[in-house]
Amino acid sequence: MKRRFIAGAICPKCEQLDKIVMYDDDNHKRHRECVSCGFKELMLDQPDADELSTRVNQPRAGEKPLSHEDEVQVVQLMDPKKLH
Ligand SMILES: [Zn+2]
Repeated sequence: MKRRFIAGAICPKCEQLDKIVMYDDDNHKRHRECVSCGFKELMLDQPDADELSTRVNQPRAGEKPLSHEDEVQVVQLMDPKKLH
């Protein structure tokens, strides 16, 4: 299981800096875990959370406002199975 530290992340439980690691389980669910206090959390609906964590408060490149119908199409294009 590949784990990556999230630079600058603060544990919501023990509030220590740089103790949060992120990993994907066998079902491609993303989790984060604190190596200091053992805090664990499943990260829902954030398949690109590791990238977003380094780009907080910045607009995502290529992202534009979409109608509801367009959102459905984007989801299909971003099938995680094809990205891995
Ligand atoms: Zn902690």
